[in-house]
Amino acid sequence: AHDLELVGVGKVYDNGTPAVIGFDLAVEKGEFIAFLGPSGCGKTTTLRMIAGFESISSGEMRIRGKRINELPPERRPTSMIFQNYALFPHMTVRRNVGYGLEVKGLPKAERDAKVERIIETLGLGDVADKRPERLSGGQRQRIALARGLVVEPDILLLDEPLGALDANLRKAIQNELKLLQKNLGITFVFVTHAQSEALSLSDRIVVMNQGRVEQISPPHQLYRRP
Ligand code: ADP
Ligand code: ADP
Repeated sequence: AHDLELVGVGKVYDNGTPAVIGFDLAVEKGEFIAFLGPSGCGKTTTLRMIAGFESISSGEMRIRGKRINELPPERRPTSMIFQNYALFPHMTVRRNVGYGLEVKGLPKAERDAKVERIIETLGLGDVADKRPERLSGGQRQRIALARGLVVEPDILLLDEPLGALDANLRKAIQNELKLLQKNLGITFVFVTHAQSEALSLSDRIVVMNQGRVEQISPPHQLYRRP
């Protein structure tokens, strides 16, 4: 089975807005997929439906062959990373990173081992006992990544995660994302309105416009006529 499958997925908001229409996609395990398109084309809505934060109006979603339409977010094998990081300001980095495992009720020893490993992977050792409010944007985004990865999701969902960073940091985090993809072998679904980001990061780009998929192609074929 594919890692992630969307079959005819649609979303109509309660106010009647048709945000996503007939979305079809099949993603291989370990692939890096970008949703690319102008503001309002339905990228975030699609990501939120995969995460379970938004209900699905029509069609079906499957992860590793299993239908997920009705599963609550906490029971899906996904993690979502936001542009504004959504960290807890009053908790240390270590506690922020371990929060998801705490909620899941994992025993402390097991939790600590997983947290230390991911903190090491993302180079956060030196700031592990600090609070996020005292750290830079790049460090905060690494904490958010660590928090998403520590629960060992099958699929990492990223909603414009680089939008708040300056150009140098953006490049650095891009490189780290590629390394994580290679080393962890998990699937990435990445939302962006920046073409350059989609081109340099993804294995395949899903081009969206007004709620529909216009084209799905690897970066080097993006401008080639089908
Ligand atoms: P983005 O373009 O990154 O999705 P927006 O600024 O469009 O962000 O949306 C920010 C928030 O407002 C989101 O939670 C989105 O669901 C909500 N939102 C966007 N458009 C509408 C709308 N027409 N009616 C109600 N909520 C909306
Ligand atoms: P993108 O992420 O590509 O900017 P969105 O998925 O945020 O696009 O939005 C797709 C469409 O759905 C837009 O027309 C937006 O205004 C609308 N929309 C988003 N969130 C809501 C909401 N909570 N209620 C109603 N309409 C929304």
